Amino acid sequence: MTKGHFPIDKLQRIRTPFYYYDAELLRQTLRTINAEAGKHEGFCVHYAVKANANPQVLRIIREAGLGVDCVSGGEIEVSLKAGFPASKIVFAGVGKSDWEINLGLDNDIFCFNVESIPELEVINSLAQAKEKVARVAFRLNPNVGAHTHANITTGLAENKFGIDMRDMLKVIEEASAMQNVKVVGLHFHIGSQILDMSDFEALCNRVNELQQELERHQITVEHINVGGGLGIDYQHPNRVPIPDFKAYFDTYAKKLRLRPGQTLHFELGRAVVAQCGTLFTRTLYIKEGSVKRFCIVDAGFTDLIRPALYQAYHKIENITSDEPAATYDVVGPICESTDVFAKQIDLNRARRGDLLAIRSAGAYGEIMASQYNCRQLPKGYLSDEV
Ligand SMILES: *Cc1c(COP(=O)(O)O)cnc(C)c1O
Repeated sequence: MTKGHFPIDKLQRIRTPFYYYDAELLRQTLRTINAEAGKHEGFCVHYAVKANANPQVLRIIREAGLGVDCVSGGEIEVSLKAGFPASKIVFAGVGKSDWEINLGLDNDIFCFNVESIPELEVINSLAQAKEKVARVAFRLNPNVGAHTHANITTGLAENKFGIDMRDMLKVIEEASAMQNVKVVGLHFHIGSQILDMSDFEALCNRVNELQQELERHQITVEHINVGGGLGIDYQHPNRVPIPDFKAYFDTYAKKLRLRPGQTLHFELGRAVVAQCGTLFTRTLYIKEGSVKRFCIVDAGFTDLIRPALYQAYHKIENITSDEPAATYDVVGPICESTDVFAKQIDLNRARRGDLLAIRSAGAYGEIMASQYNCRQLPKGYLSDEV
């Protein structure tokens, strides 16, 4: 029996809860990215490892030839282990510790995305100790708002990320006085789950202004990095399994004025992996309350925290029932009231033992799992191997 595209008989044998990744959809998504970015000269795509660092998922992404964006030393380690070349690793983050910077220096990574002057000074001195020159880009805060959830907006002046863009020339000047860093780029990242291309257009306009300002001082950088943030359709994982990469890359091609020889780097996380992942969970109990009917499942926010953390919506399907729909609150077993996956949703009538698919869970799912309540971390399986 299969419902939709899931091999139910095989999935039934795996202990729940677990993540399941559709390898074919991931490969198709990567082919689309390469085709659409490939239409524009100088476009380089990195994958933001923090969205999902499952080794099998990383292997498929590496096979497609993408680079990576890391935000910790641990992410640099898993990326190297997955076979990504150091020359395609960029390292961002507001709080890089010394060992993490040293790891990047030892491996001669492509670039450090630097978020403050004190950080630049530390990178310079650690590079000096190793008699190396670190390639750095400045992460500038473009003060461009993304019209998305407040907790995932990063490009406003009030956010902790990046350097105030008004300080751009000052930091570039300070860096040029240092012997062991070389400024090679400008970096931006305005937020996540962005579906309105005008937000990216606003970033392009800001980058154009900043480049003009640099030009007035005879400065050009090798590359511009515009971060990630492209959103996905959580409502319709079946109808829109692949995000609109054409619109995304075309927006940048049309609006951002690259200088001759300059490359444009992207760091996409969610848009690469979200739709290929599903969290499978089993129904434990149906509890008929006086005002509500609860479907109590064996996955909790320890397995997928997005609904509890951001009130995020994930489509949920009962893949082992064809009975008429009923309305449920789907809740987990964790001892917290926020442990709710969905409220008042329709599911094919659920009974104990039914397998539910929590869709679009490939990004910021498995990787954010915790062991709260002494729970085991969920395992992730690739469709190729089940
Ligand atoms: C999180 C992050 C990304 C990826 O964001 P998505 O919304 O998943 O595409 C890219 N760049 C940086 C610096 C990030 O912190």
